[in-house]
Amino acid sequence: MQDKYGRIIDYMRISITDRCNLRCRYCMPEGIPGIPGEEILTYEEIIRVCSQAAALGISNYKITGGEPLVREECYQLVEGLKQIPGVRQVTMTTNGVLLQEALPRFLTSGLDGINISLDTVNPALYRQITGFDKLSRVLLAIEAAAAGALRVKINVVLQKNVNLGEWQALAELAQAYPVDVRFIELMPIGSGKNQEAVSNHWLLAQMRQQYPGISFDASVHGNGPAVYYRIPGFQGAIGFISAIHGKFCQSCNRIRLTAAGELKPCLCYKDTVSLREAARAGEDDKIRALLEKAVAIKPGMHCFEELSQVTEEHKMVQIGG
Ligand code: SAM
Ligand code: SF4
Repeated sequence: MQDKYGRIIDYMRISITDRCNLRCRYCMPEGIPGIPGEEILTYEEIIRVCSQAAALGISNYKITGGEPLVREECYQLVEGLKQIPGVRQVTMTTNGVLLQEALPRFLTSGLDGINISLDTVNPALYRQITGFDKLSRVLLAIEAAAAGALRVKINVVLQKNVNLGEWQALAELAQAYPVDVRFIELMPIGSGKNQEAVSNHWLLAQMRQQYPGISFDASVHGNGPAVYYRIPGFQGAIGFISAIHGKFCQSCNRIRLTAAGELKPCLCYKDTVSLREAARAGEDDKIRALLEKAVAIKPGMHCFEELSQVTEEHKMVQIGG
């Protein structure tokens, strides 16, 4: 599908739950009332929606949440999505806490890659950021995932006065393992509105000082806006996703589907198009029309630099990142 700005929309992020087993301070610092169970799309309904989306040219899918692994049998959704004609890639983003046990099922599900979110390798800081003592589980999951055939990426959000000092230890996960480590600028969504983002320009300058051999990597690593660099001796690359200090809206290729079946054309604005009823009723023509409508109203760009114009009021845990 092409939007009115000429952008090809071929990527959908699917949030399968708004529940989470962590309480990351910038995402879901306290519990929030969850979506009632009956409003959450079933896997069958998600597959119905994605069958129509794939027919319209959306070929890449990311399963997200909340924490996708708190929803049972999530690997079955991967298997179902991979059987849809036109689906090229299915990947997932997780906090990694439940990943080690779940990994064997995902390795045979057809999953093409996994992103593991981790903001520190310091146990005390991990507890401070996420509210739980689960760092060792995440590190074991990273090690196990990196040893398998999956493409693994680590997603890091740096916060001023919290985990800035962790960037090097996190980057060096790409030295220890064949994983890409990506630094995502904090966006003013949910609790992220209360903090200023750490600039990836600043971070790259720090990296240049620490690793003078660092060089731009033009190869394609995925479906998103990350810009990659290579550090000599590192197995994986270092990625920068700079939504604030390197706005990439002109190449935005995505729409989002929330767990309650709302299509979200842009992260920054509250506007959605609900296709839950159409998915429930099995009305494929209507689902297609609603997908086209969501793409038609996709804004040209976000306005994160102008906080008063950001209309999205949900937290990232309710949207899926
Ligand atoms: N629970 C899963 C996880 O942590 O990967 C999937 C959902 S989480 C919302 C997806 C990603 O969004 C995580 O990498 C998280 O760090 C990131 N995120 C959450 N709030 C954010 C914010 N305000 N700005 C930038 N990234 C954010
Ligand atoms: Fe949960 Fe992921 Fe949000 Fe952390 S970033 S609270 S793990 S949804």
